Amino acid sequence: MKFEFFRSSQITTDCDRCGGPADMLKGGVCTRCRRILCYQHLHGSWVRRLLADLGAGTVCADCRAGRPPVAAGSAASGVRE
Ligand SMILES: [Zn+2]
Ligand SMILES: [Zn+2]
Repeated sequence: MKFEFFRSSQITTDCDRCGGPADMLKGGVCTRCRRILCYQHLHGSWVRRLLADLGAGTVCADCRAGRPPVAAGSAASGVRE
């Protein structure tokens, strides 16, 4: 149930990176590290936002840079870099 949180009518949550408001219409969830991120930390630029909209996949700036965050328990979930 990866879209479970979408059941809420609230579309703004906290960015896992900066703790600021993450508008789900602009930001979103990284498909690689599963963090909820604001527009700035997910896409970083309108170019990436465009690519994501075109189906390139939504991967956050950190994962693209090859430095995904160390998530607690990620080793057991089979998440690969
Ligand atoms: Zn952020
Ligand atoms: Zn990521």
